Amino acid sequence: MSQETVYAIASGKGGVGKTTTTVNIGTALAQAGKRVAVVDVDLGMANLAGFVSLTPDSTTLHDVLAGDASIEDATYRLADNIVAVPSGTGLDEYAEASPEGLGDVVDELRTAYDYVFLDVGAGISHETVLPLGLADAVLVVSTPEPAAVQDSKKTIELTARANGSVAGLVVTRTHPGSDISYEEIAARLEIPLLGTIPEDSAARESVYAGTPLVVYNAEGSAAIAYRTLAADLAGIELAAPTPRSSGDTADEPEAETESAQPAADADSTDDADSSATESATADDDAADVDDASDDDDSSQEAAPDDVSSAITEAESDH
Ligand code: ADP
Ligand code: MG
Repeated sequence: MSQETVYAIASGKGGVGKTTTTVNIGTALAQAGKRVAVVDVDLGMANLAGFVSLTPDSTTLHDVLAGDASIEDATYRLADNIVAVPSGTGLDEYAEASPEGLGDVVDELRTAYDYVFLDVGAGISHETVLPLGLADAVLVVSTPEPAAVQDSKKTIELTARANGSVAGLVVTRTHPGSDISYEEIAARLEIPLLGTIPEDSAARESVYAGTPLVVYNAEGSAAIAYRTLAADLAGIELAAPTPRSSGDTADEPEAETESAQPAADADSTDDADSSATESATADDDAADVDDASDDDDSSQEAAPDDVSSAITEAESDH
């Protein structure tokens, strides 16, 4: 059994790939049979739902934190083995939500799922710092850009102040041909390098499609890198996805547009043997991530129906 099961995905600078990382590590582990919850704890700039074509009904994490709903009510099944807990996007809901309740939320999810990934907001506000101490380990996400690396230092310092523990660095949007040493960046920050995710146009396209990259373009360079990272974190081996055809696997995901339903209870995900990815059309939730995704204005319906068959778990320590 892996000891670290609750991860906070954090960064100093916004727009570096936290939500992309959360959704794709989570989906890769779900594909490998782990029960996963991804939680949007970016309470002020929530947008995880748009990445997975989830249109939550009126109940979100904000309601849970306001004391108006249970965590089950705010838990939505995305596909086999994976649920999301979205946050609301309204400022009024945000004002009523008290981050203090996050500890209880994390405790509940920890017992119900094998892995919990907290998509943390950028910056240094209280609600950003709190999850750093609630997680077993923090993944610091940065692009190679000096400003982002510099801001990573703050996240590392804040994690220490919150009595949390940093697992290491994930460098996103790397250019394999460049002469930048990502190891050196991690060494400068004095944390281990956990993985690098190459620049891949499919990352942005997958947001528009509202489908995780590891499903949308399962054999693309970023998807492969996310699977490797997920496997390393969980201490498992992930087989390569089975090619669906000799052509491009990213084309024409089959649309499934029925609404995602709140999971009846947190354990209900492991008894579903359907391989269909339930999805719902997202409206505008993908917008507004700080400086980098202001054009992510909509997510379309659709998700391929063979999510769970794409990857098999070869070996598990659970
Ligand atoms: P954050 O959650 O840190 O604000 P996001 O995950 O929303 O960051 O990513 C910000 C933008 O960068 C999005 O438009 C996303 O599609 C894009 N992006 C993320 N990772 C990559 C990548 N590996 N290659 C290309 N674009 C990426
Ligand atoms: Mg984000």
